[in-house]
Amino acid sequence: MSAHDASGSLSSMFEWEKQFFFCDDPSRTRRYFQIIKAVFDNTVEGIVITDASGIIRMVNAAFTTITGYMPEEALGRNPRILKSDRHPPEFYENFWLRLVNEGKWEGEIWNRRKNGEVYPEWMVCTAVYDERGNAEHYISVFNDLSEVKFKDAQIELRSNYDYLTGLPNKEMFQSRLFGELSHRNRSGERLALLVFDINRFKNINDTLGHFVGDAVLRKIGGLLSECVGSAGLVSRIGGDDFHILLPDVHTPDEIAVQVKRVFDRLGDPVDVEGHRLFLSASVGISVFPEDGREVDDLLKRADIAMGKAKESGISSYRFFTEDLGRRASLKLTLENALREGLERHEFHLHYQPKYSFSRGTFSGAEALLRWNSPDGPVQPSDFIPLAEETGLILTLGEEVFRMVCRQIAEWRDRWRFPGEIAVNLSARQFHQKGLLSKLKGILGEYDVDPSSIGIEITESGIMENLLDSISVLTGMKDLGMTVFVDDFGTGYSSLNYLKRLPIDVLKIDKSFIDGVLEDGNDAAITRAIIGIARSLGLRVVAEGVETSGQLEFLRHNGCDEIQGYLLSRPLPPEAYEKFGESEIPLCFNGISGYNHC
Ligand code: C2E
Ligand code: MG
Ligand code: MG
Repeated sequence: MSAHDASGSLSSMFEWEKQFFFCDDPSRTRRYFQIIKAVFDNTVEGIVITDASGIIRMVNAAFTTITGYMPEEALGRNPRILKSDRHPPEFYENFWLRLVNEGKWEGEIWNRRKNGEVYPEWMVCTAVYDERGNAEHYISVFNDLSEVKFKDAQIELRSNYDYLTGLPNKEMFQSRLFGELSHRNRSGERLALLVFDINRFKNINDTLGHFVGDAVLRKIGGLLSECVGSAGLVSRIGGDDFHILLPDVHTPDEIAVQVKRVFDRLGDPVDVEGHRLFLSASVGISVFPEDGREVDDLLKRADIAMGKAKESGISSYRFFTEDLGRRASLKLTLENALREGLERHEFHLHYQPKYSFSRGTFSGAEALLRWNSPDGPVQPSDFIPLAEETGLILTLGEEVFRMVCRQIAEWRDRWRFPGEIAVNLSARQFHQKGLLSKLKGILGEYDVDPSSIGIEITESGIMENLLDSISVLTGMKDLGMTVFVDDFGTGYSSLNYLKRLPIDVLKIDKSFIDGVLEDGNDAAITRAIIGIARSLGLRVVAEGVETSGQLEFLRHNGCDEIQGYLLSRPLPPEAYEKFGESEIPLCFNGISGYNHC
């Protein structure tokens, strides 16, 4: 219409319109306005006309239909009455900028109806200018888009979601998986893909009918979503196949914990349509990046793992990479087994002898924990970290200290010299409240001389909370025990702190001893540690000595003591006793040629 013409001229008028204006008959002009008014009143688009200051001067009937405001409620007010909270302030700034600079704004905008409902509309807003080119009015014409959006959403729902369970369907799942993988190919973070299959679902369908089968699928879908929570994505791929994406898992045991949560819930009977059903499922798991970096690889491998799980016939899960699965299930069962093991006294100690160069004889031992679980021996490296994590190390550690004291007391009664026995303390145990009084109590219980006990704590364990460490270490020394810094050289302790720490012995980590003959750096570090110990007046022990070459290197460079397979493996108490009575191979005393190491 001519009103859109910024100059206000009538040059763009249609011929038909001109006949109303270029005549002297006012009734014809009036009829023209009647026509326009009829359009205004009957169009399905809402129309708002404001003056230059933005005050609403005119609205049409569709405006009332769409917004719910009667004309008398809108006239004289600002269109802000329709504003929703959906857009940031910049949106409206941009709106006005375009309108003022270009005379027009067009786009989607979310407004609020009188009843509070927020809805989308498509709006075209134009400025009408006076003869001098100043904006005189603004006209907004808008369509309610809610219905269109609703239909779009329904289409989206149908193409992305499973009609039966309401869960994301295969297409959506795979596109999300693809997105997660491309992100992870950069970050390398873990992700788990679970293929979940209900055992003997066909039986349910065949015997109870599809109606019950569908209800079971809906139940399972809901149960899986609940277990996985908002962090994961559960999808029904088809039939009784569900896929689950766990994007926030860092270790195989975290995955296993999630799977176990599902199985725990599956253990409860499911009531559907008057039937009480006991369900079981098979789950296959593949893990990024271990089992693949592509969607197809991960899906294929989770499927293979699911097939293996299914063979067992009961509720079970399998990782594609068996090693991951073993570690995960070990952790799950280990915690219980650890508790039971403690009750059933499955833990005992081995003693690994140490040799002192200056004394020319063995000088004591390190007590190392051994676990003979019903399934066979479990390595300390497998159960100590878990015991730390679960807090069981506190009970276990106390038990170790007690076993050492009991053993020393037993030896004392019939053996002259068990030597100094070093006990490992993990960081968590070391920083535990009341540790000192507990140790003191146990020492008293067995009447053990504290000077026959060494405490090994790792360098990183000390550095974890330095202030606390200093006070605990001081307490230990006050009690009369010897303090060892274990695995020295592997942490980040500053030499500045080292000189202030109340410690007695540095234990050079095995990793340096391993390379001491071949690797110049390891040799230099080992020499440096011995030098530091010397200058700080500390004793120094090398652990993991396996060859006579390493032994000679350490003797030559002034190390005080050594421990390692060359001298002896960790021994049960009786064997340690025998070892203490036997002669040390002569090479330890610097004599080679016969009685070799
Ligand atoms: P660690 O305290 O550094 O103990 C030394 C480890 O090196 C022991 O392994 C020992 O058997 C091994 N070892 C000693 N000499 C040699 C050698 O010549 N060659 C080789 N290849 N290995 C050697 P183990 O007994 O498996 O213990 C591993 C770790 O478990 C220990 O490292 C310690 O951190 C922890 N641990 C063991 N017992 C206890 C305990 O009672 N309490 C706590 N908190 N931790 C313990
Ligand atoms: Mg140790
Ligand atoms: Mg060590």
